[in-house]
Amino acid sequence: MYLDYGRCPCSGVYERKFVEVRMNVGHKVVVLTGVPQGACRVCGSRVYKTDILERIESLMKGERYLVGVGSEKA
Ligand SMILES: [Zn+2]
Repeated sequence: MYLDYGRCPCSGVYERKFVEVRMNVGHKVVVLTGVPQGACRVCGSRVYKTDILERIESLMKGERYLVGVGSEKA
C-alpha cells in the first residue's frame, strides 16, 4: 500500500494522498476532489495512477468536446 506508486527516481517513496485537482478546460475550471495521488516527500514530485490519469484525460476531452459544442455565444 505504501509502495502503491513505487519509488521516485530521487530514491524517495511516493506517499499516498487524496488531492483536489483543478483543470482549466476551455473557459471553465473543473475541480475534481479526492483524486488519489502519489507524492514524493523528498522532492515533491507527483504521480497519478494510469487509470486515474486516463479518467482525467477522458474528462478533459469530454469537457473540451462539450465546450466546443456549446460555446456559441449570441
Ligand atoms: Zn522524489
